[in-house]
Amino acid sequence: MSNNIRIVLVNTTHPGNIGAVARAMKNMKLTELHLVAPKFFPHEDAVARSSGATDLLDNAVVHEALADALADCQLVVGTSARGRHIPWPLVNPRELAGIVQTAPDSTRVAIVFGREDRGLTNDELQLCHQHVHIPANPDFCSLNVAAAVQVICYELRMAALYAEQAQADQPQWGTPWDIELADHGELERMFAHLEETLVEIAFLDPDNPRQLMPRLRRLLLRAVPDKVEVNVLRGILKAVQKRIDS
Ligand code: SAH
Repeated sequence: MSNNIRIVLVNTTHPGNIGAVARAMKNMKLTELHLVAPKFFPHEDAVARSSGATDLLDNAVVHEALADALADCQLVVGTSARGRHIPWPLVNPRELAGIVQTAPDSTRVAIVFGREDRGLTNDELQLCHQHVHIPANPDFCSLNVAAAVQVICYELRMAALYAEQAQADQPQWGTPWDIELADHGELERMFAHLEETLVEIAFLDPDNPRQLMPRLRRLLLRAVPDKVEVNVLRGILKAVQKRIDS
């Protein structure tokens, strides 16, 4: 998922913040950094504050206008430290991560961050489908831009990790072999063959079958055998029958 999420920084004043953003992103496994008219970039302060996330700085895409950074994105999210005049669909970072996680895999997402001193303008915020606000202290709600990037990228990562975990915890059925799974008819013929053979070798008493067949059915159905495995089992049964006949 992380390949489709870009972080867009608008008119960043301090190059150190760009470096800190690169670091925050790389820590959370995001790679795509877009810069719109940064005041100073490239810059040694950016390199210093990136603490080694220089690959993100080297690959950063610099645009003149915000619209250029958003042109090929399907979901555009604006971040805001305070409420604005016209209400807009507003979520917190966790809710945003849920939205991103459930969007179709191919969705290209841009998350836009504003200037250190004034944030994003109303016009810029109105380019966005969705606004995200970190519910900080209402009396002191403006985070450093790299800290805001960190919080949001962390939630994106947690949502991605939880999705992987949920997938792994999901009960699995069958095995994705190269060989097709046996179908119902093949399994039923195998069970009939097994039952017949067990009677022939006097392991199963037809007058007192007890729970033998249900137990064997459960065992073999749990294994979800493929077509070849069913053929092998039936081959063994045939060999057993041939021996008793001779
Ligand atoms: N004084 C500015 C705040 C700028 S902080 C204002 O009032 O808008 C710089 C950037 O960090 C913001 O544009 C936003 O992208 C991000 N940011 C800071 N605090 C945030 C918060 N509580 N929620 C969401 N984004 C935040």
